Amino acid sequence: MTKTIPEILAGETFARDDVIALLSTTDPADAEAIRTAAHRVLVDNCGTSVFLRGLVEFSNRCASDCHYCGIRKGNAGVKRYCLTKDEIVDAARFCAEAGYGSMVLQSGERRDERFVSFVEDVVCAIKKETVSNTLPRGLGITLSVGEQTPEAYKRFFNAGAHRYLLRIETSSPRLFASIHPSRQSFEARLACLAFLKDAGFQVGTGVMIGLPGQTVQDLADDVLFFRAIDADMIGMGPFIVHRQTPMARHDEAMAARKKETLELALRMIAVTRLVCRDVNIASATALQAMEPLGREMGLLHGANVVMPQATPARVRRDYQLYEGKPCLDENAQECRECLCGRIRSLGREPATGQWGDPKHFDARQRHAAAQQ
Ligand code: SF4
Repeated sequence: MTKTIPEILAGETFARDDVIALLSTTDPADAEAIRTAAHRVLVDNCGTSVFLRGLVEFSNRCASDCHYCGIRKGNAGVKRYCLTKDEIVDAARFCAEAGYGSMVLQSGERRDERFVSFVEDVVCAIKKETVSNTLPRGLGITLSVGEQTPEAYKRFFNAGAHRYLLRIETSSPRLFASIHPSRQSFEARLACLAFLKDAGFQVGTGVMIGLPGQTVQDLADDVLFFRAIDADMIGMGPFIVHRQTPMARHDEAMAARKKETLELALRMIAVTRLVCRDVNIASATALQAMEPLGREMGLLHGANVVMPQATPARVRRDYQLYEGKPCLDENAQECRECLCGRIRSLGREPATGQWGDPKHFDARQRHAAAQQ
C-alpha cells in the first residue's frame, strides 16, 4: 500500500519510492511538512548557524565544453581572464578579515601543468597569509577546479586545500551524455569523486534541477547517489539557460517552467537534508537568480552554507555559467553585509571565524578510525 507523506516522514530511513513520493507531492500541507521536517533534521544534526565561504572565481579559462555552460571553451563571446596570485591572495585576506573562516576557489577546468602548479602555489600562499589568532590554521580552502588527475588532487591537498566540490550534474548517465560532449564521460567524473576521497578531501557534489528530459525518478536517484557515495557537501541549483550555449533552444520551455523548477530545487534541498542528515548543503546563488529571495528560501528548506561573492567586481561579469547571475556589481564588502542581513532576517546567525566543516565528515573519520 502507498504510504502517505506523514507516514514517510515518521520513518527513519527512506526507500527510493519514499524519495520519489516526497519529491512529487503537490499538496501544500505536505510540502510544508517536508520543509519543517528538513529544518528539524538540520537543527538536530548541524545547528542553526550558516557557514560562509567567500567565493573567488579566479579564472574563466576552460578546456571543457559542457553544453549548458556560459564559459565553455566553445563560447567565443567571453572575455577570458585569470587573476594574478596577488589578486587572489588579496581576496583571501578580505575573506579572513570579513570573518568568513573559509573560501572557495573556483575556475574553469584545465589540467595543464602550468595551471596545476599555479593552483598549488596559490593555496600555499593563502594558507601562509591568513594564519591569525582567530584562524590558527589559516582560511579553510575549498577548491572547485574540475576533473584532475589523482596526482594533481594530492598536490592540492598537500598544499593545504581540504574540501573539493565536483558536481556530477546528474547521476543519470543518459542525461549526463545529453548535456556534455562525448569526450567528457560520466565514468571519468565518477572516478574523480573517488580520487578526491582517496586524496583525503571532504568531498562535495551536486546536480542541476530542471534539465530537459529529467524526471522526478532521476532526481530521486540523485539524492540516493549523494548517500551512496557518502558525500560530505551538496551544492544543487536550478538549470538556467545561457543563450550563448547549445542549450539555448530550451530557453522558452525553461522560462515557462520557472516556478515549478524553483519549487523542485527547494524540495530537493529539503529531501537531501532528510536523507543525508549531517552533510553541509549550500543555498546556491542560482536560486537567487530565479527569485530574489531564493537563497533565503534555500536556507529555510535545510541548507546551511552560503557563498558571498569575493571575486573582484571588474571580472565578475565574465564568469557567468548561466544568465541572470546576481551580485555582479556590488563590492565584496557590500555582498557581505547584504548576505549577513539576509541570514539574520531568518532568525539565523552567520558563523564567523570558523571553517564550518560538515559534521558528516567528522562522523566518517570517527567511523574509519573505529574500523582500524
Ligand atoms: S561547467 Fe565547468 S568544466 Fe564545464 S564548461 Fe563550464 S567551467 Fe568548463
